[in-house]
Amino acid sequence: MLALDIQQQLVRRALQLAAKTAAKGNPPFAALLVDKSGAVILESVNTVHTTSNAAAHAEINLLFEASKRLGSSNLSQYSLVSNAASCPMCATAMLKAKVAEYYYGAPNEDSMVPYITFEEVVSKTPYSVEVHGGILAEECTAQIRQLAKK
Ligand SMILES: [Zn+2]
Repeated sequence: MLALDIQQQLVRRALQLAAKTAAKGNPPFAALLVDKSGAVILESVNTVHTTSNAAAHAEINLLFEASKRLGSSNLSQYSLVSNAASCPMCATAMLKAKVAEYYYGAPNEDSMVPYITFEEVVSKTPYSVEVHGGILAEECTAQIRQLAKK
């Protein structure tokens, strides 16, 4: 598990990236791939609107890039960080990639469709992942409320 100050540093970086992609018209979400020490390997953002791709969530974009760059679909040596809890599509993809740990900021919005939390997705799979949620949660939730288009 990463130290709390490192977790917060990483979530703050995700918040910065989320604000940048929101400024381009995308939903305000970002994800980081980090190694066991918390060093950032890759950064990614949600590009649903700028790429006209409903599946272009930050985590999915990150996994595509990671597989390309690292030449492997197995990311068990890495952890994922995002400014908000993943939707079930991303949660499933992350579990299939076998990420070791998952750190997130804001909890799922009530408006998430389908409403299946990361933890619920995990419980339906044989995979295990160490989950740490609620990092700078108030700050993350406030940013989403401010930047997400209704
Ligand atoms: Zn997602």
